[in-house]
Amino acid sequence: MKVAVISDIHANRHAFEATLDAVAASDAAELWCLGDLVGYGAEPDACVELAREHAAVCLAGNHDLAVTGEIPLDEFSLGASLAAQWTREVIAPENLAFLESLTPQAQEGSVGLYHASPRDPVWEYVLSALLAELCLDEQRQRVCLIGHSHVALSFVRHEGELATGEPRREGSTLDISSGEWLLNPGSVGQPRDGDPRAGFAIAARLGGNPAASMFPRILAAAVTAAAVATG
Ligand code: ZN
Repeated sequence: MKVAVISDIHANRHAFEATLDAVAASDAAELWCLGDLVGYGAEPDACVELAREHAAVCLAGNHDLAVTGEIPLDEFSLGASLAAQWTREVIAPENLAFLESLTPQAQEGSVGLYHASPRDPVWEYVLSALLAELCLDEQRQRVCLIGHSHVALSFVRHEGELATGEPRREGSTLDISSGEWLLNPGSVGQPRDGDPRAGFAIAARLGGNPAASMFPRILAAAVTAAAVATG
């Protein structure tokens, strides 16, 4: 079975719909979402509803937890904090309840899922091989999926070697059948790796053991919460 992995949608409905179309056209049988459904973007309800409808697994990200009130807004930048406050004001009660039901980590079969990192599922940005090394020491699963940094990348540590990392460009494929891995599919709604197209990953699972992964990119537009709030 193949699984489509998405993260960091950030209330960008256009990018989410384009990604869902691409996932539907792929041979992925399930959709797993690593969190941050809301924040920054202008369509939180539409995005939470799409996640409720399509995601077999969904984590909470730091922006989702800011909207539910589980973590304080003073830990966010001004723009992120304002977007979270606006989202709190407009989000439908049933969608807020869905966000409240989510956690920032999960396990699916042999794969660990974390919004941010195995060491800190809410806040840690894993962007260096050194941090990846520390996370690989911590993680109990051979393969973990992470989001949060909005950068599509992979870290691997093979037996007796140090961890190495690489950004994953459009369409790149990986053999993850051996070694310890941290994989980030990139961001659907707000990519930060210089490629403005929505990013996600498709992982193949053979007998519960993730074997290969690829990173498509999809062209989509965005509307921000700031644009809506200022008219
Ligand atoms: Zn995010």
